[in-house]
Amino acid sequence: MGKLLSPAAVLIAAAVGLAPVGSGARAQTRTLVLDQVRIIDGTGAAPIEHGRIVVAGERIARVGSVDAVPMPADAERVDLTGRTAMPGLIDSHFHIENDPKLALRQLSHGVTSFRDPGQWDEKFVELRRMIAADGLPGPRIFTAGPHIDGEHPAYPADAVVARDPDEARRAADTNVRSGASAIKIYFRLPFASAKAVIDVCNAHHIPCTAHLEVLDARELIDAGLHGIEHITSFGTSIVPRVEAERYRQAVLADNNARRDGRYQVFARADLDGPEARALYAVLRERRPFVDATLAVFERRADKAVDGAAPAMVPVMAAGFGKMQQLTRRVGLAGARLVMGGHSTVPYAARGEAPWRELELLVDSGLTPLEAITAATSTAAAFFYRGDEFGTLGAGLEADLVVLARDPSRDISAVRSVERVMVGGRWIDVARYGKY
Ligand SMILES: [Zn+2]
Ligand SMILES: [Zn+2]
Repeated sequence: MGKLLSPAAVLIAAAVGLAPVGSGARAQTRTLVLDQVRIIDGTGAAPIEHGRIVVAGERIARVGSVDAVPMPADAERVDLTGRTAMPGLIDSHFHIENDPKLALRQLSHGVTSFRDPGQWDEKFVELRRMIAADGLPGPRIFTAGPHIDGEHPAYPADAVVARDPDEARRAADTNVRSGASAIKIYFRLPFASAKAVIDVCNAHHIPCTAHLEVLDARELIDAGLHGIEHITSFGTSIVPRVEAERYRQAVLADNNARRDGRYQVFARADLDGPEARALYAVLRERRPFVDATLAVFERRADKAVDGAAPAMVPVMAAGFGKMQQLTRRVGLAGARLVMGGHSTVPYAARGEAPWRELELLVDSGLTPLEAITAATSTAAAFFYRGDEFGTLGAGLEADLVVLARDPSRDISAVRSVERVMVGGRWIDVARYGKY
């Protein structure tokens, strides 16, 4: 991604008809005005009713109320009366699996950027080819390379195995050299090796995240961990040590023990107990990013997911309720919540996981604006890209979604997507919606 122009430079470039740096060969910068639209800018600020967004080329030139932002000459005006514009959603936890079209389907749902949480680059070749073939500007893709796990990895095909801190450090270095914009630690990596990976990330100023499960959240956050994947990563940090160790040994003996075990841990956890309070204190101090991925863990007592043992169904529903409560608690303690859809989840249709995640964040106690902020400006800050995209502000990339309804009143309105723009260009929503 090219360097940003200052807002003033963008305006000057627009005024004299020059393309901003990085926009390629197009000589003329097209100026587009989205007019009379309700604006949710992604910062958490109250919506602007009757707003005006001026897009010059790839970037946003001006944002404000129609009274404050003059209509530029020779602009193409789109009347969006009654509609809402907000920044494109950022999915901080998107598994491409073997389904590159899923990324384009999510794009039609307003997801203009995603971060892969650990996968070989080879898995993205087909998606990049499709994007290039269509001349698409997005979705913006942030990859991590294979996640770094210890011996007997949980997902062998997606992992590199590090047997000691030196191997872990070298694996992280190799991922960074290969273009990773984040690194993910997996839970079988011992603490000293995880710490070595964190140090590589911090040296390169890229986010380091971890699926903790049997690693201790408090220790790793203290060691400089930037982000935590899954609210379940806190399981062993919120129960008494004897119980945490029992769960830890079960998962170390069999990676699959976590599938039921994490719900049992959460169902029993005391969110006001001494362990939980010690966790909140660390979060308050270090303010890591937390990608709860609630939608993938959602379980309902009245609608069991295939394969759940009947006795486990109520335990899973109770455990999930506690996961939602803990999501709210860690947010109140100071963790910075982001939105991770996790691609395929039990109670959402294909491509709709990010919408379900936003609904579950609100169901957990966030306001709709807080949930939108998690999926926009906070996610961009998580990637160290807050000065490039993630909010509707002058000088930023024009990544945005136009909705028929107002999601600041009802978060489910994120489902009412009419238009999607990436880098100043409208996406073919109808076409990608069929993918
Ligand atoms: Zn994970
Ligand atoms: Zn995942």
